[in-house]
Amino acid sequence: MQGGFATLWNEKIVRRCITCISGSFKKITMTIKKRISIENRKIEYTVRKHRRAKRLKITISCDGNCMVTLPWRMSVWDAEKFIKENSKWVLDKIKAMKKIGNRSIFSRHDRDEYLKLKDYAKDFVMKKLEKYFRFYGFEHKGVAIRNQRTRWGSCSSNGKLSFNYKVLFLPERHADYIIVHEICHLREFNHSKRFWNLVAKTIPEYEKIVEQLRKL
Ligand SMILES: [Zn+2]
Repeated sequence: MQGGFATLWNEKIVRRCITCISGSFKKITMTIKKRISIENRKIEYTVRKHRRAKRLKITISCDGNCMVTLPWRMSVWDAEKFIKENSKWVLDKIKAMKKIGNRSIFSRHDRDEYLKLKDYAKDFVMKKLEKYFRFYGFEHKGVAIRNQRTRWGSCSSNGKLSFNYKVLFLPERHADYIIVHEICHLREFNHSKRFWNLVAKTIPEYEKIVEQLRKL
């Protein structure tokens, strides 16, 4: 996700990994769209209930979408209350993230370019995968090249990997990082310390790369 996410966890701001959201994605159990008026502005937001969510959080993505994640025991009214209590943060972040989003590599959606470069991207990715699979020794169940709007890659729970064709535009080492990130999800389907330790085995400077990817 370019620009990453801006996330508000009960008033503590956390910057998230932007490469993918594997590990949390499939656990979503309920999603609804709602509208709210804050400081005379109407905003639309999505509420999702998440079985494993422990705390309430608001996430603003680079296209300005607002998402509230609720632990199972909370209700949509808690989501509304949380937005109202943090209305300034929400409005500021929607504005800021849209600005980042417009400059972002993900804001270009050129289908012709994607179709033209898809096969080339597949070769590029497969070569890198081969190299890193040799190192890690994990197994995948298929690789796809996509034109995702918000992510560099993903790993599904059944071992399928997908990559954004735009990895072609990245510096070599950054592309390596994206590949390694998804490979490591085959072993650690989360973003835990154990996961990052695996990444660091081949990309020890991953923190710097993650930071740079956020600014692209
Ligand atoms: Zn990830």
